[in-house]
Amino acid sequence: MPIASTTLQHLNTVAQEQFEPCFVYDLDFLRDHLSTLMDQDVVKLWYAVKANPLSAIVRTLAETGFRFDVASEGELQQVLAQEVPASQVLNTGPAKSRRQIDKFIALGVRTFVAESLNQVRWLNEAALAHDVQLQLLLRVQLRWPKGEKNPLGGDSLTPFGLDPQQWRGLYLADYPALQCIGVHIFQWGNMLSADKLLSLWQQMLPPLKALSEQLGFALQVLDLGGGLGVPYDDNSASLQWQDVLRALAQIKRESGVQELWMELGRYAVAECGYYLNPVVEQKENYGEHQLIVSGGINHILRPAVAGQAFPCTLLRESQAKPRKFNIHGPLCTALDSLGTHTLAQDVNENDWLVFSQTGAYGFTESMPFFLCHPMAAEYIIDNNVLHLLRESASANSYLR
Ligand SMILES: *Cc1c(COP(=O)(O)O)cnc(C)c1O
Repeated sequence: MPIASTTLQHLNTVAQEQFEPCFVYDLDFLRDHLSTLMDQDVVKLWYAVKANPLSAIVRTLAETGFRFDVASEGELQQVLAQEVPASQVLNTGPAKSRRQIDKFIALGVRTFVAESLNQVRWLNEAALAHDVQLQLLLRVQLRWPKGEKNPLGGDSLTPFGLDPQQWRGLYLADYPALQCIGVHIFQWGNMLSADKLLSLWQQMLPPLKALSEQLGFALQVLDLGGGLGVPYDDNSASLQWQDVLRALAQIKRESGVQELWMELGRYAVAECGYYLNPVVEQKENYGEHQLIVSGGINHILRPAVAGQAFPCTLLRESQAKPRKFNIHGPLCTALDSLGTHTLAQDVNENDWLVFSQTGAYGFTESMPFFLCHPMAAEYIIDNNVLHLLRESASANSYLR
């Protein structure tokens, strides 16, 4: 995807005033994109804050009407600090301690996704202690018998939610402070096909309906989590929102639920972010062309954990022939690879690379302390003006 020329101008300004890698988030692009997502009445949208908790990003989501899914006290405090009312917050996450539950309720959160039987018990106890009623969704994890076609792909067992068998042991009348309004299910990520999503969701419906009938609560809400993908390479096409909406509308009809919910992370914010990275040098090693760059998995860890690089281009225009480069960050570990990319062969130590789709799972999904390189700066583009929100910080600012 080519970068818009107005955005490109700002990226060039950043490259002129900085020496170290930094993130730039285009809030003007984000605002347009989010209003497209909100312009419908099929699905209620929450933002999965873990994708990017930056204040300006959270505020932009709040302005367009998104609600917020938080999974830690830190995320909750960050969202509340942006003046989002606690009534707009949903709490999911596998590790809800009694202490955290108490804190969330004290801060005004009333909607929770329970991921275990203990969570249900602790939520009820805390709600009684605070004399409040909570809305509850049960997070379900489905598996298919071995040998049968498994629509969830990897079929890896995770700590997220519980199997229906376990949930069947729940007697809801024992929890008077909780109103069970629906189920939550989310087991797959970065999906790029609306047809595939539709068929996955359709296969979820019978076991989920059966569970709500067995436990005796009406399925008012079906929360399908996140999982909408963005392309990380040139061969993949973008997932079209209108196609997703059609699939969701069909699921809404077939399930008979009053409300569909999703918490979007990647699909909401990935595309608004760029990671600018200075080239340190080009070298040849056993016939392989390598580029060494200033920032690596200390700032964008995802290539090492997901095995998928962020798309990369050269900031400058060049007429030189393209060539494949293996790009390596500054960490003294072979894990620090940012992928293989085709770039003009005259790329050199005065150049900057631009990594795109880094608005999600970038800055906070990284390992900035390893080897004491500077922390990345963060910029926003807002109403076509560039603002520096965080200076690049040297290691002595956090080492003790
Ligand atoms: C991470 C997460 C999401 C967001 O996932 P994306 O694939 O980034 O949209 C949604 N819901 C829950 C519970 C999550 O943990």
